[in-house]
Amino acid sequence: MNHLLRCPVCGKTFPDHGELACPDGHHGLLRSIYPEKQLAIRNEPGIFRYADWLPVQQVPRTQSSPVTFRSLGFAKEVGLSNLWIGFTGYAPYKGAYVPTCSFKELEAWPTVQRLKETGVGTLVVASAGNTGRAFAEVAGVMNQQILLVVPKRGLERIWTSAPAENVTLIAMDGDYSDAIAIADKICDLPGYTPEGGARNVARRDGMGTVFLDAAVTIGKIPDHYVQGVGSGTGAIAAWEAALRLIADGRFGETLPRLHLAQNLPFIPLVSAWQARRRTIIPEIDMPHAEEAIRAVNADVLTNRRPPYAVPGGLFDALSACGGRMYGITNAAAESAGLLFEETEGIDPDPAAAVACAALLAAVDRGNIGEDACVLLNITGGGYKAVPQKHHVVPVETIRPGELPASIPEKSHV
Ligand SMILES: *Cc1c(COP(=O)(O)O)cnc(C)c1O
Ligand SMILES: [Zn+2]
Repeated sequence: MNHLLRCPVCGKTFPDHGELACPDGHHGLLRSIYPEKQLAIRNEPGIFRYADWLPVQQVPRTQSSPVTFRSLGFAKEVGLSNLWIGFTGYAPYKGAYVPTCSFKELEAWPTVQRLKETGVGTLVVASAGNTGRAFAEVAGVMNQQILLVVPKRGLERIWTSAPAENVTLIAMDGDYSDAIAIADKICDLPGYTPEGGARNVARRDGMGTVFLDAAVTIGKIPDHYVQGVGSGTGAIAAWEAALRLIADGRFGETLPRLHLAQNLPFIPLVSAWQARRRTIIPEIDMPHAEEAIRAVNADVLTNRRPPYAVPGGLFDALSACGGRMYGITNAAAESAGLLFEETEGIDPDPAAAVACAALLAAVDRGNIGEDACVLLNITGGGYKAVPQKHHVVPVETIRPGELPASIPEKSHV
């Protein structure tokens, strides 16, 4: 039996033909409904161990997967007795072999596979860096044509572990939100398919495997979940994974509390949630956005249009789980990241360093008790250990609002 999709607005369920939205046009995040209520772990080396709860029929072979391990060193520094790390990145001695070093690769694998099963055309991806790198890698391995739109600031992050194939890269002035706007326009052209971001169930369920892997490794749903968030998609995915685990019956009955962090001074989600407001008001929640975004170290956390208010989105996740949001300075993130590297031996992505600082703040403020079972999502890291980085070279550079003069057929590497 195949999985179905359900609209959170009208409740209608229907078979998955690659939809990103309800056929009746409702504004809400579709959710996948899997026939297997109990998770059976498959004999696969990577993420597709969890294919029961991924929206794909076929299972491509990859070693890429989240890993979960108990923290000793960092836990001691933070003052926790039961801290678990969910890590996606490159650290062979931990069994972690994600060459592009972030949990965006967990999104890319099922997204590309789902597109192959349900859609056609060139996949269009807008990225601040990590998503583009992940999709470039997976597109090469899976023989899927993709078009990446990346702000110049993120260009140095677009590399692959083998020379890139099937990838066309366009660089642009402006930030991540400008890249999304250009990608949207390109998707109006025939032959181009949007990857859909948070609206794509494959992206969310792919990210949700971090939470599944943690619950399976720990033996239960953790009490607290800590992550650095830009769009909040990873946190929505953790909530959805927890709901499935509760329905499974073997992992506990309580949703985890969400402790989510953004990098000061750009913290729209923190600001809106602290006011318990469902909508983000740009003047209040992200004043001087461009300047604020430029001042942030972890720029993968700077999304100006996150899926927060949308039904089934981050506001609903925080409301269901109970949640706290933290604004973290560059300095606090840097020192927490260094502490993590010293104690766990993995260099964290700047966004993961923000999560490390949030965990320190949460314990400090008494939001997390010292014996609570805590999952810290180290969403990226291990860059220093990656053996080879082949940089992908842009075929064109454009300004915000422009369309590329010609969209080239073939990749330039
Ligand atoms: C994208 C990203 C995040 C933020 O994830 P969201 O789902 O957008 O909130 C955190 N850490 C890393 C390393 C990322 O690449
Ligand atoms: Zn609907």
